[in-house]
Amino acid sequence: MQGMSRLTMRIRFVITLMALLAWPLTYSQAADIALPEIGDSAGALISPQQEYRIGQAFFWRLQQSVDLVEDPEINHYIKSIGQRLVSHSDGPALPFKFFMVPDTTVNAFAAPGGFIGVNAGLLLTSQEEDELASVLAHEIAHVTQRHLLRSIEKHQQGSIPRAAALLGAALLAAVNPEAGIAALTVVQASGVQSQIDHTRAHEAEADNLGMLNLVRSGFDAQAMPTFFERLQQSSRFYSGRSVPEFLRTHPVTTSRIAEARSRAVTYPQNRVVRDDLSFYLMRERLRVMTTLNLIDLRQHYVNVIEKGNNRNTIATRYGYSLALSAMGEYGKARREINVLIADDKERLTYQLALAEIEKASGRLSEALKIYQVNQQLYPNDYALSVKQAIVLMQMRNPEKASTLLLTQLEAGRGSAQLYKLLAQAQGDMGETSNAHGWLGEYYYSAGRFKQSEEQFKLAVKSARGDQYQLAKLNSRLREVEETKVLMEEL
Ligand SMILES: [Zn+2]
Repeated sequence: MQGMSRLTMRIRFVITLMALLAWPLTYSQAADIALPEIGDSAGALISPQQEYRIGQAFFWRLQQSVDLVEDPEINHYIKSIGQRLVSHSDGPALPFKFFMVPDTTVNAFAAPGGFIGVNAGLLLTSQEEDELASVLAHEIAHVTQRHLLRSIEKHQQGSIPRAAALLGAALLAAVNPEAGIAALTVVQASGVQSQIDHTRAHEAEADNLGMLNLVRSGFDAQAMPTFFERLQQSSRFYSGRSVPEFLRTHPVTTSRIAEARSRAVTYPQNRVVRDDLSFYLMRERLRVMTTLNLIDLRQHYVNVIEKGNNRNTIATRYGYSLALSAMGEYGKARREINVLIADDKERLTYQLALAEIEKASGRLSEALKIYQVNQQLYPNDYALSVKQAIVLMQMRNPEKASTLLLTQLEAGRGSAQLYKLLAQAQGDMGETSNAHGWLGEYYYSAGRFKQSEEQFKLAVKSARGDQYQLAKLNSRLREVEETKVLMEEL
């Protein structure tokens, strides 16, 4: 029963994708972004703008069924690794978007236009930053080589709808294997078998280009085969449906590992020495956030610290502090984080953790003091600004919160989270129309068009006098309505 309704959803999704291929160039957000010509296909069937829209539609659909990780520090970390790889890839100017899904299975996936999703499980399973980077580099190569779209173009002589269906199925298989495989079965039953071989060729290309990118970006080429091996070994303990998802959509065969291994030795062993402590810290942060058993996790940290047999003592202590704080043991949590601060006073991650402990224990002005001191050192930091804004609103200073948030927005860091907080700050300030407008942007960015439409209507209704503002809101409302119809009806 559940399978049927999901499949129906998938089919609607595929049909939407087909419609997007023919979507005229009136869409606002995509038009704001300068998209370079890429790939090998002069006179290609699908333009970079259409490609971006397919990715955007996929991203909206995904958010309709999954809540993404909202933690600004973890998001910033994933983005920074991703962008470092992108800058050394074949598509450095593409508007890549990296985001995290709070799912502990090992998976990563890429949609056309540069939408790259990383499951929490991928970061939790990686033993080094280079391993995480190797999977991201593989996904980036799928995007820069337009693999999914080339599948469509290849099949265009046969049937565009069928090829579009393949694209939808392949994407969904990456995110939701159960539904994706069901859709693939339907597609295959209708007679497209060459898809499988095509995918293997693309996998090999993504491995090769991904490794090249990895090395160019200062990571260790060996990390790719090492991570493949780790996955293959872990999969021996799985059976049937519980196989890690990266293995389903990117099957790690012995020959694939061997190929990656022999390719890796052709690169000089010049892993750039760098500060990769962030990897270990963010991994523990994510572990505490996603654990189903805080008590066991806290005990695990205690054991590891006592035995001293951990890979990264600092990250273990950081995780321990976060776990203590999550369990309400603020005094102990504060003590642990202060040990780390004593050795590395200016590391923002520790300062933010301490501020969070103060905030959680009800000492808001202590938290604010920490944020303000650090604002001098890191004036443009997104996580710092967002967390500070939240505390400012709790302390009934929405004006200052709003200023901080708008600065981030102007720096091009608009996100669902930022829109939601702006709505709250403007609402607290009594700016009703603005508050509805930002809430409209929030729902729009999360793919919830009906709610977005409602909010823009309320924004128009409560806009007073300002004709320019009114015209802007009305034009945005029309765009939202057009997108809503497109995403719903087709
Ligand atoms: Zn792949």
